[in-house]
Amino acid sequence: MKLLDGKVAIVTGAGGGLGRCHALALVAAGAKVVVNDVGGSRDGTGGGSSMAEAVVGEIQKAGGTAVANTDSVSDPAGAERIVQSALQAFGRLDILVNNAGILRDKSLPKMEDGEWRPVIAVHLDGSFFCGRSAARCMKDNNVAGRIINTTSYAGLVGNFGQSNYGAAKAGIAGLTRVWAQELSKYGITVNALAPMAKTRMTEDIDAIPGEMTPEMVSPLVVFLASDLAKGVNGKILGAHGRHYFEYKTVLTPGVKKESDWTVQEIAEKFGAICGEGAPPPAALKMPESLTERIKLAFQLMEKAFTPEKAKGWKAVLHFFIEGADNYTIGVDEGKAAIRPGHEGSATCQVRVAAATLADMIEGKLSGVQAFMSGKIKANNLNDLKRFGEVFDFKRARAAATQGAAPAPATVPVAGPDLAPVMERLPQAFLPDRAAGWNGKVVFDAAGTPGWTLTIQDKQCSVAPGKAADATCTISGPAEVLGDVLTGKVDFMQAAGKLKANNVPAVLKLKQAIDWAKLKSSAWAAPAPAASTGLNRALVGKKYKSGALFVRPEKIRAYLAATLNEAAAPDVAPPLFPVTLIPDLFRAIVADDHRGDLSRVVHGEQRMRFGAPLRSWDLVTPRGTIAAIDAKETGEIMHVDQDLYCEGKLAVEMRTSLFFRGTQPKSASSSPAAPEKPAGKKLFSTSVTVPEDLSRRYAAVSGDDNPIHIDPEAAKAVGLPGVILHGLCTMALATSAIVEHLGGDASRIEELAVRFSSVVQPGDTLTTEGYEVEPKRIAFVTTNQSGKAVLTNGAARIR
Ligand code: NAD
Repeated sequence: MKLLDGKVAIVTGAGGGLGRCHALALVAAGAKVVVNDVGGSRDGTGGGSSMAEAVVGEIQKAGGTAVANTDSVSDPAGAERIVQSALQAFGRLDILVNNAGILRDKSLPKMEDGEWRPVIAVHLDGSFFCGRSAARCMKDNNVAGRIINTTSYAGLVGNFGQSNYGAAKAGIAGLTRVWAQELSKYGITVNALAPMAKTRMTEDIDAIPGEMTPEMVSPLVVFLASDLAKGVNGKILGAHGRHYFEYKTVLTPGVKKESDWTVQEIAEKFGAICGEGAPPPAALKMPESLTERIKLAFQLMEKAFTPEKAKGWKAVLHFFIEGADNYTIGVDEGKAAIRPGHEGSATCQVRVAAATLADMIEGKLSGVQAFMSGKIKANNLNDLKRFGEVFDFKRARAAATQGAAPAPATVPVAGPDLAPVMERLPQAFLPDRAAGWNGKVVFDAAGTPGWTLTIQDKQCSVAPGKAADATCTISGPAEVLGDVLTGKVDFMQAAGKLKANNVPAVLKLKQAIDWAKLKSSAWAAPAPAASTGLNRALVGKKYKSGALFVRPEKIRAYLAATLNEAAAPDVAPPLFPVTLIPDLFRAIVADDHRGDLSRVVHGEQRMRFGAPLRSWDLVTPRGTIAAIDAKETGEIMHVDQDLYCEGKLAVEMRTSLFFRGTQPKSASSSPAAPEKPAGKKLFSTSVTVPEDLSRRYAAVSGDDNPIHIDPEAAKAVGLPGVILHGLCTMALATSAIVEHLGGDASRIEELAVRFSSVVQPGDTLTTEGYEVEPKRIAFVTTNQSGKAVLTNGAARIR
């Protein structure tokens, strides 16, 4: 006994494409079928009986039962005749599949009535007429029937150039939901299908691969037509080849009011109405004068501050504002203080034009855009990044437009911690210059316990507290002392702000210390601890981010950003999946507030592939912190990120991040000239990194770390200039392997590399591959100087 034995089905537009496959599948499941088709061309012109008859012939040849009908669905009388042909041929009607369709694409300004009307007529009118005739027939004959409509991504999500088609398909989704409600009392269910498959309708759409055949969609039609789907009603199901899913309409919780809404109130609450949680782009009235605008902007900073995001962040930001007054923002213990002028010792200096800052506060320019275009600069990127995360201008605008006056500052600006500065002084001591001088210098900084520096027989030591037998006492504000003792300000320049009771001793001290050494950035920064203190409690925690489509335009952009434009965008290249997870990755790494991101280096990357991802695959990213290892030089966080597609694990990725500790050791300290892997040499491919590649890759990968975009930002963290993303280098090396495999990326089962040193625009990279085992290629990538940039490269081949 077959699933649809005894049932009679009509499939409209069954002379080819999806309809033909649905008809064949229904017959294979036991149904008798009316094969309807006008037999016209793709745009609905022409006609004839040959298409419908050919499919009937095919069915009969396979032992099935079918009759042909060539009426047009867009004619109400024709629709009625289609239903009658089922009754005449087989005596009943159980299933209607509304599938017929045509296409006449044009963008809105160019679309003529002759393109609009016929498309609406075939899809929307046709579904209505056939649905009405079938529903009447099923109701009158007490048949618990099935109606399966055909809608489309273009109608449910939207698609360029398809006003007519999109409107008709959205209308069909509407019919489905209404009919599902109206007809359920007769036991009739109504559902819709939004298919995606290669047919004559999609023959010129590159994004739909030839392997995505209509046969893959039809099992869903058979299911919906069967008793197995008795309880399924009013659903809209996507079927992208074999990938089935449901389209759902989401209603946000919205916002209720007791009294009538004003337009202004709607504007203010728009974000919340739309369920975005955040307030709308508020219409903030800014004063005319730039100085006043900046003043208001800094008042708003108080409102913009998000304490829950500031956990563990201690900073003093000095804003140097071109065209307006300067300001200081101090953040400590989840509180912020905003002050005019510069107070305290800055952990970060931010330089920005008044107009840029005003635009950011008003919501005309995002912080990221400002940074990317070089309009806002800072000498401590970690602080600038945290500033962007912690100060939410949207929130500030909403608060300001609700009339709440900015609250006064809550905590004083944090003063510098002098302890690490004092502890470094003996390391900059120049014993020979102190010959013959023994003394005790007390540093008496307001609000601190004080320190005593002792020089005795060319030895230097520092201890907390103020020695009673000091030969010299230097006193003044902690900030000024901090600036002097880190070599930023000369003793003499600070003379007006510091007091000393023994000037010759100050001069001797000045001579005995290497101030340049203290000033150098490596010294000025607090010495990192051996352990970066990564939070081991997070190991095993699961992370997820929303499902997303593999969009063909994104693959195309990725191919261009990895110098691979010639490849087709229907199949994603091996490393493309890393561009689908920036949100997940950020969520994982940002969760560990104890890890200092400015010290993080991408150490290794491993990937394992199931089937390659294809255009329009819907993938679900999942992640976890797999492990944290301690090394002498720092800690390594191993992050696992997986992509699921159609319920199966499609890509596994392990990213190992090295957090540098006491011995700043970047991955670049690997041997300069790598050992060539053993085995037969298979290929050697060279490529020169274009000047704009890191910027292009940043845009496509979502990794917009300024070290890849802004030369000054890169230099601020000790790099020679902007550097290419490690994963882009890995993608270039992978292309060499794919090329060796004759362009078939699906043969790569596993990939692994270690990132050994940085790559800069203009570098020429050479990837050499060696056969170490029959299905294993070892590879190494070097730059023009022969220095390794990727080592331990390994590819397992299917
Ligand atoms: P297709 O062109 O191969 O099939 C459409 C069939 O409908 C043709 O055989 C055509 O002759 C017939 N037809 C046209 N006007 C008719 C009329 N007035 N009366 C009766 N028959 C008529 O295209 P397809 O891709 O198989 O499309 C089938 C359905 O799936 C359509 O509704 C289409 O909009 C929808 N769809 C297809 C895709 C896809 O990826 N192929 C995507 C979304 C939606």
